[in-house]
Amino acid sequence: MTTRRSMLVAGAAAFLMAVPGLAAPSPKGLEIYWIDVEGGAATLIVTPAGESVLVDTGWPLPRDTDRIQQAAREAGVSRIDHLVVTHWHGDHVGGLAPLAQRMQVGHYYDHGFPAGDASDIDRVVKSAYLEATHSASTVLHAGDEIHLRQVPGTPPVSLRVITADGIVLGEAAGSPQTRPCTARPAHAAIPDDTSDNFRSVGLRLSYGGFDFVDLGDLTWNVEHKLACPKSLLGVVDVYQVTHHGNSDSNNPALVAAVAPTIAVIDNGPKKGGAPAVYKLLRQAPSIKDVYQLHRNVTTTAADNAPPELTANDDEACKGEWIRLRVDPAAKSYEVEVHGKGTKRTYAVK
Ligand SMILES: [Zn+2]
Repeated sequence: MTTRRSMLVAGAAAFLMAVPGLAAPSPKGLEIYWIDVEGGAATLIVTPAGESVLVDTGWPLPRDTDRIQQAAREAGVSRIDHLVVTHWHGDHVGGLAPLAQRMQVGHYYDHGFPAGDASDIDRVVKSAYLEATHSASTVLHAGDEIHLRQVPGTPPVSLRVITADGIVLGEAAGSPQTRPCTARPAHAAIPDDTSDNFRSVGLRLSYGGFDFVDLGDLTWNVEHKLACPKSLLGVVDVYQVTHHGNSDSNNPALVAAVAPTIAVIDNGPKKGGAPAVYKLLRQAPSIKDVYQLHRNVTTTAADNAPPELTANDDEACKGEWIRLRVDPAAKSYEVEVHGKGTKRTYAVK
């Protein structure tokens, strides 16, 4: 169906092409901002159509709301079209209510509240969420897709749910966290996670051949279900290091299965960025560079990304972001560490 709006847009484009000296605006690619919320998570995606997706909202602190708004301004977006909460911990959903007071939000998505009270889900945060969303959010399941607007003539963009509520793509509801799987690579299960982390919504964003994965704080056993007997995520370009780089996440089987080109750790100065995870990433044959939002001030230089790939060096920081820009044809992408002047370009797989 042709809408009045699309007719107007088409008309404007025809006008621009018809007037000598006025070129049609150049097409935009895809952008991803890792916003520094100091050990929480807030990842802003802006699609070629200018649609915005915010995955997680940081802590319930004005600092984080300010930083999300700053990144949105930098990206040229004034509202959040899709807001996904990966799970119910305060470092992911805490900033939602204050953000919703400042920015218009189109749709909310989550994995649903577990039945009854859970000791790790703050009642205040839960009621603030229900109030902000007017109890009208979409509960995501593995296999769902968050529909994004397409720009004719540019590569397709898609956002797919790979895991939610502990269930991975293709699995029946109620399946256990651990699935026996004897295929390589071998896996040592750990005791089931009793926190909300294993229920994290995990997303794969694709733009043409470019793939990015954000699994929230998903933990070890469910990660393995994504990798064995085969990768349900395929091979990706960019891996947001799960759970801020904690070592009860980032199962080596998953990191090997997704074989990313770069990894970005959304750690804080004293949270996440575990030496064992940094070492695992550095030793992964596919990974060219590991980026960090923060230097882990409790470990050594050898346990951290080099300063030019680290957005914030000290505990007292300006909250610098890391930005990734995929070119409009989805052939390459550039990663910029703001405040450091670092820009590196990688080919899309
Ligand atoms: Zn977290």
